[in-house]
Amino acid sequence: MKLSKLAKTLKPSATLAITAKAKELKSKGIDIIGFGAGEPDFDTPDNIKDAAKQSIDSGFTKYTAASGIVELKEAIRNRIYSDYGLKYENNQILVGSGAKHVLYNLFNVLIDENDEVLIPAPYWVSYPEQVKICGGVPVILNGSQEDDFKVTPKQILSRCSKKTKILVLNYPSNPTGATYNRKELEEIAEVAKEKNLIVLSDEIYDKIIYSGEKHVSFPELSEDTKERTILINGVSKTYSMTGWRIGYAAGNSDVISAMNNLSGQSTSNPTSISQKAAIEAFSGDQQKVTEMLKEFEIRKDFISSFLNKIEGIKCFVPRGAFYVFPDISYYFGKKYKGKNISNSIDFTDFLLEEAKVAVVPGIEFGSDNHIRISYATSIEDIKEGTKRIKESLKDL
Ligand SMILES: *Cc1c(COP(=O)(O)O)cnc(C)c1O
Repeated sequence: MKLSKLAKTLKPSATLAITAKAKELKSKGIDIIGFGAGEPDFDTPDNIKDAAKQSIDSGFTKYTAASGIVELKEAIRNRIYSDYGLKYENNQILVGSGAKHVLYNLFNVLIDENDEVLIPAPYWVSYPEQVKICGGVPVILNGSQEDDFKVTPKQILSRCSKKTKILVLNYPSNPTGATYNRKELEEIAEVAKEKNLIVLSDEIYDKIIYSGEKHVSFPELSEDTKERTILINGVSKTYSMTGWRIGYAAGNSDVISAMNNLSGQSTSNPTSISQKAAIEAFSGDQQKVTEMLKEFEIRKDFISSFLNKIEGIKCFVPRGAFYVFPDISYYFGKKYKGKNISNSIDFTDFLLEEAKVAVVPGIEFGSDNHIRISYATSIEDIKEGTKRIKESLKDL
């Protein structure tokens, strides 16, 4: 069958590919430690599950408004207000089937053919792919590890053209764990104003932030910033609800209304049951979030200091999210079993075959000198997996 031009450009998700390879080895009885996961390993809290059960039992199992039910929009608005002092109306909120789906809708309603979208690298894998699907051009801004993986206003300015329409921000960042402070964000906001950019701020890790640091939400910086920003968040990471598929966008009502039309003609509403569960997530007891954060912080401290003690590895200490993104390029040029290690994919293959540890190659996030290790797994696995990495590297 003849596929569309678009179909031919689509890339499978790399994270899913490495997970599949690790699963295949596991099914052969090989004991693999998985560091590939892009989701918390904790169970969804019971109060949230109970809200979903009640929704089923009470028959709340039919279509809802495509952009989400009013009670959920209100729970989201209350959450954003109590966290960041930001006020939105119901017509400025769209709930979708996960933040990924919301981002996809957003790019679709904003991008015309050849519009340029600035994407700081290392980036979350789906941004460039979604932009391309919509006919846009991803323009990659490389953040270096020396600058804590942050992009500067100067860098943004230097890559702006007449076609530049959107700036993507994601902090705390997947994959680096880097984040921005208020002053840095204000400088970026100034450039966004000067160049009249729409800012898409993906803050899905806003609650997974360490050392007592306070997350600054981009739209809270000023009235101008709020007007030009579409804020993206969801329940997946904070409440360990990746399978429930609830994410949202908050911002300009025309944009939200267009996204609503797109949802209405494609997916319709996100699952009714998940919406009820999300209300409980946003408005119920937040104790479990604190507990998860504590556990993540212990793991983060262990894994970053352990990796930094291995010869040749340089690991940025994350300030948020649940990944480390160490530079492993020291090992390029080395050989094992007659095979050369010359990039992040070779290194990842080496770790899988020799250390029996699954990680994701950095090239997928726009940096071939790095690998991504998710520490959303037990501390026992983290200790065992990092020990294996250390031992296997000694043989190189
Ligand atoms: C996980 C993730 C998402 C997608 O989250 P869902 O709500 O599960 O679709 C979006 N952005 C980033 C940076 C993520 O890591």
